[in-house]
Amino acid sequence: MRRIAAATAIVSIRGGPGAGPREVVVGSDMARQYIEAMSIEDALHALAAPLRQVPSQCALCRGWSRERLCEPCAARYAALRPHCTLCGIGVTAGVCVRGACLSRPSPFERTIAAVDYDHPWNELVRRFKFDAALDLAGMLAQRMLDAVRRTQAPRPDWLAPVALAEQRLRERGYRKARELARRVASGLSCTSDARLLLRLKDTPHQLALAPEKRAANVRGALAVGPRRRHELRGRSVAALDDVMTTGATAAEVARTLLQAGASSVQVWVFARTPRPQDL
Ligand SMILES: [Zn+2]
Ligand SMILES: [Zn+2]
Repeated sequence: MRRIAAATAIVSIRGGPGAGPREVVVGSDMARQYIEAMSIEDALHALAAPLRQVPSQCALCRGWSRERLCEPCAARYAALRPHCTLCGIGVTAGVCVRGACLSRPSPFERTIAAVDYDHPWNELVRRFKFDAALDLAGMLAQRMLDAVRRTQAPRPDWLAPVALAEQRLRERGYRKARELARRVASGLSCTSDARLLLRLKDTPHQLALAPEKRAANVRGALAVGPRRRHELRGRSVAALDDVMTTGATAAEVARTLLQAGASSVQVWVFARTPRPQDL
């Protein structure tokens, strides 16, 4: 904590509203040593702290706003809408569970999705994932917190971000789900454990596969380390990811956690693909 405070204290900001893009400047070699001693995620979080105190640009409309999502955009795009309790797909008001979900057993107890994976959120998620736009993590996590708090779902013992395979982790530089999970856990005063779920192999994107091949594609892709099983036994877990597309990965995550001893699994995602044609 002292390291983070020291690093935060000696960064300064150039630019601002009307003065072009802002940049964070690290003031001394000592600061660099502090930052090198931290994880890259903690360093980026500490460096972003001063930026949270000044006017920012709305991530959607680019207008100046104190928050990363301005009030008009929040009202237009972020209003919480009813979703199927089980799969997270949007439903009409008054419906709790889609008919298709009632007749299909699911290893997870519920899905909580903040938004539909649709305009304008799909573009924002793309920036978060592929442009390393870490500054969006706080705003995305806040939408997830709003969605979780609105439900009557029991709070899990642990949050478990869904891990990326090592190769993709190197390409992107940080775990997007871990960044969201840490912030959501902080808002709920519970624990996020990024080491609980291990990714054993990378898998092709689910939408690229025929529906009947999706479950096989992710089977065996995730695991709970043998040493963690005794800690997991009897615990409730919320598996957290940025996007839920077909639900095949979420189902494999839930099966993996249940087989390792978890008592129940929820799935929390920022965005849910509205209605894949095969669901
Ligand atoms: Zn806006
Ligand atoms: Zn459903």
